[in-house]
Amino acid sequence: SVAAVKGKTFIIATDTTFAPFEYRDAKGDMTGIDMDLIRAIAKRQGFTVQIKSVGFDAALQAVKSKQADGVIAGMSITDERKKVFDFSDPYFDSGIQMAVAKDSDIKGYADLKGKTVVAKTGTESLTFAQKNASKYGYTVKALDKADTMYSEVNTGNAAAVFDDYPVLAYGIKQGNGLKVVTEKEAGASYGFAVLKGANPELLAAFNAGLSGMKTDGSYQQVLDKYLKAPD
Ligand code: GLN
Repeated sequence: SVAAVKGKTFIIATDTTFAPFEYRDAKGDMTGIDMDLIRAIAKRQGFTVQIKSVGFDAALQAVKSKQADGVIAGMSITDERKKVFDFSDPYFDSGIQMAVAKDSDIKGYADLKGKTVVAKTGTESLTFAQKNASKYGYTVKALDKADTMYSEVNTGNAAAVFDDYPVLAYGIKQGNGLKVVTEKEAGASYGFAVLKGANPELLAAFNAGLSGMKTDGSYQQVLDKYLKAPD
């Protein structure tokens, strides 16, 4: 039962920067949708979380090697990953999009011939970019961190970046110098994950907490706090 998590501390691994899901605020504290959700769920269910901001691929590796109990990092629920992880109920519907420098004349995949594109190591965006590389004749470079990906595009070392659409939209609104030029590709929903078979109580507690937050409106408040455009 979910009572099994009461009073326990769980190590939760996450990405370094995947705003607005996880990033550091002006004081250097981890904040964002994922952080608010996991902390609120822990509070409701009576457990404690210790957040480890290690990077997306590193977060998945940490759970695989049992250095962490769970991962919340805008992690897409995919069949491939279900072989290794158990996922919570979905908490956000996402999708992949392509962005280029604001002054670039690239308008779509067909303009990528002979160019280099970047995507984050271990992500769905990287898989998508690699899958279409030969079709459109571009080269894919995998990078660990969002800021490195975006600066590669801004400096012209890469022609485009593939990333999740809400993250691109947020960054563009913050003035990261990019623009999106494609429709979003259908993507999987985000879920909280634990190692397969390893932490059923934590997963059950997450689902119970998420369900409670959906029912009482606090889940929507978290989304609105980070995603609602200011008037
Ligand atoms: N949603 C994407 C994935 O799971 C990217 C996650 C991320 O970059 N933090 O692959």
